[in-house]
Amino acid sequence: MSAYDAVIIGGGPGGYVAAIRAAQLGLTVACVDKRPTLGGTCLNVGCIPSKALLQSSWLFDMAARQMGAHGIDVGTPGLDLGAMMQRKEKVVGDLTKGITQLFKKNGVTHVTGTATLKDANTVSVAKDDGSTEVLETRNVVLATGSESAHLPGLDVDERRVVTSTGALALERVPGHLVVVGAGVIGLELGSVWRRLGAQVTVVEYLDRILPTMDGEVSKTMQRTLKKQGLAFRTGQRVTGAEIGDDGVTLSLEPVKGGEGSTLEADTVLVAVGRRPNTDGLGLDAAGVATDERGFIPVDDHFRTGAAGVYAIGDVVGGQMLAHKAEDEGVAVAEILAGQHGHIDYDAIPSVVYTHPEAAGMGATEEDLKEQGADYVAGRFPMSANSRARAIGDTEGFVKILAHAGTDEVLGCHIVAPEAGDLISEVVLGREFRAASEDIARTCHAHPQLGEAVKEAALDALGRAIHA
Ligand code: FAD
Ligand code: NAD
Repeated sequence: MSAYDAVIIGGGPGGYVAAIRAAQLGLTVACVDKRPTLGGTCLNVGCIPSKALLQSSWLFDMAARQMGAHGIDVGTPGLDLGAMMQRKEKVVGDLTKGITQLFKKNGVTHVTGTATLKDANTVSVAKDDGSTEVLETRNVVLATGSESAHLPGLDVDERRVVTSTGALALERVPGHLVVVGAGVIGLELGSVWRRLGAQVTVVEYLDRILPTMDGEVSKTMQRTLKKQGLAFRTGQRVTGAEIGDDGVTLSLEPVKGGEGSTLEADTVLVAVGRRPNTDGLGLDAAGVATDERGFIPVDDHFRTGAAGVYAIGDVVGGQMLAHKAEDEGVAVAEILAGQHGHIDYDAIPSVVYTHPEAAGMGATEEDLKEQGADYVAGRFPMSANSRARAIGDTEGFVKILAHAGTDEVLGCHIVAPEAGDLISEVVLGREFRAASEDIARTCHAHPQLGEAVKEAALDALGRAIHA
């Protein structure tokens, strides 16, 4: 049996992109995934189904609550949740099949089954039919991703107590959905079910929502989502749960001490982060270590401690984002082919797909204060942007953080409709080490939401025109 140049374990955004790029560069590649469909968490139970439901629920909300302001009377819209879920499944199915086609086009061998390392050059794959296939390889890329973290005392049954996977497939709109964790999943999926009619309460351990984002973003998002009907209980710890046939009673205690309380829920979504997937992977046999949280540490060439074994994506930690995993997939494939793959982790945007969206890149204002950096902040409110006014969507702002001496852009934080698209120009600017002056002097079409980015850059220079 001839050895592959690379066997990639995991067919998510990290693994499948690494496989395609490595094949483009002339390497012989096999990609193993235990799921029957490619695309990993992102395509099957993550980014894509959640965005499909965010879009459907947004349209429902528009019809139910927003079209009247435009003089359009559509009456009371009806909800066919089954049809909405079927549409989501079709979007997922079409995209996962698309990856299978890309593998065929690029000559990547797709192996379905659970992979275990026997040593650094041998991968054993256990298949559903009970057979085993052994793959010999010169290099292994571990791209096994992550799974939902659980909370002690709150057993997930994917019925009453669900992870994101269950929350993407509920059979009816819950009366009261309690979300534990005010991170990205909690706010995105909380928004979906709120728009479809559920009462939603979000319980968060820390004293603010979206705790890893810029403080001003957290504050604005909490205010805006509250207006949309989401209730927040920050600074609360879940201390216990009683799961009955009709619902769940959660016990809460303030983190800072004081009187506890209870919350009755029809469904509880546990969204307190994700943990790396390494169980049964045979890391010991290959000499690959993990850190105290179970992630696989790598150097800046994605090398684990074991010669010829690399790791990328969620399983190595850092920002657990599909595009970060994809970029690491490209970089590791280029390194395997003798090129110089590299990632600038300060130029990776993160986006929360609520309405409005929240987007961030680079340093937050809190980071800069902690570093004692000499910075200026340029701000522009969406309420002063003419396109935002025309579309009736004026919540939010753009903030650009630049070095006070060199004017180099250090961070950008946006709450706005389409914030995830708006931030792209600043990410590109960051790749070229742009100054806020570069963005301020770039012509932006009028009337566009992106003019707010230009105005924030102008404000960093003390010369905004429209505010
Ligand atoms: P994964 O996508 O997790 O893929 C790993 C694959 O490895 C899986 O298919 C798994 O079956 C396979 N595997 C694991 N162990 C083995 C084994 N031993 N043998 C064979 N196969 C194995 N990120 C964004 O950037 N934008 C978003 O909008 C977004 N939305 C999300 C929404 C939700 C609800 C969730 C849960 C996540 C979301 N994410 C989003 C995060 C994103 O999905 C992950 O960061 C991304 O999928 C990580 O890619 P990966 O390739 O590292 O791992
Ligand atoms: P997260 O890390 O974004 O948020 C988890 C939240 O739970 C935090 O606010 C944390 O303080 C809180 N928390 C932790 N323990 C708690 C406890 N015991 N009680 C109450 N609150 C607690 O994690 P997530 O929302 O589960 O998402 C997982 C990963 O998936 C994230 O890394 C995220 O980047 C990724 N993801 C990304 C997107 C996107 O890019 N749009 C969407 C969904 C998920």
